[in-house]
Amino acid sequence: MNKQGKLIIFSAPSGAGKTTIVHHILKKFPNIQFSVSATTRTLRGDEVNGKDYYFVSKEEFLHKVAKHEFIEFEEVYSGTFYGTLKNELARIWNDDKHVIFDLDVEGGLRLKKKYGEHAIAIFVQPPSLEVLISRLRGRGTDTEEKLKERISKAEKELSYADKFDVIVHNDDLELACEAAEKLVEEFLNK
Ligand code: ADP
Ligand code: 5GP
Repeated sequence: MNKQGKLIIFSAPSGAGKTTIVHHILKKFPNIQFSVSATTRTLRGDEVNGKDYYFVSKEEFLHKVAKHEFIEFEEVYSGTFYGTLKNELARIWNDDKHVIFDLDVEGGLRLKKKYGEHAIAIFVQPPSLEVLISRLRGRGTDTEEKLKERISKAEKELSYADKFDVIVHNDDLELACEAAEKLVEEFLNK
């Protein structure tokens, strides 16, 4: 890996609005690219393999772990793995772009620790757990069982907010996108 751009990390519990905000940032900044993670979960909604995630079998994922292909990986939900590929970062940086991540709170903090001042770790804060639950239900992409798993993990994840560089409050989506945009602009100009 020769070149190194900056790292913009978005973390939060599932349903807080990370994906929506990250998509907004990608539209506004042509010099930022999304780090496509590998995952063992199945495709949901209108997701595209290779664009939203690299959807792989558990066997394939564990093979990549054994070959040290990940910068970080996590069993985010029981039996479901997610990980950031070294190749993905190298590809984006070699293309002279900065990289944006959508990671769970543990993975987000781990990357921040690894890359220090080259990275900004942003926590997306929903107005409350109740609102988070209603957004997750409204998204309509998870079975009741999956929803329960996401909700029970969310309670713990919300307590991680203070460990991040900065918090973006996502009550009003437009305001949250504006705030995120400003933070990213300032960070890239530093
Ligand atoms: P995450 O990536 O953190 O899991 P998403 O971006 O998928 O979250 O958002 C979860 C759901 O909540 C989506 O259906 C999204 O359209 C909706 N949503 C996001 N932000 C807001 C907001 N500020 N107000 C209302 N709905 C929102
Ligand atoms: P989802 O299934 O909703 O797309 O993602 C579930 C959780 O996994 C989210 O919190 C998301 O940010 C996180 N996630 C996605 N990719 C990665 C990754 O590569 N590493 C880690 N640690 N978490 C990830």
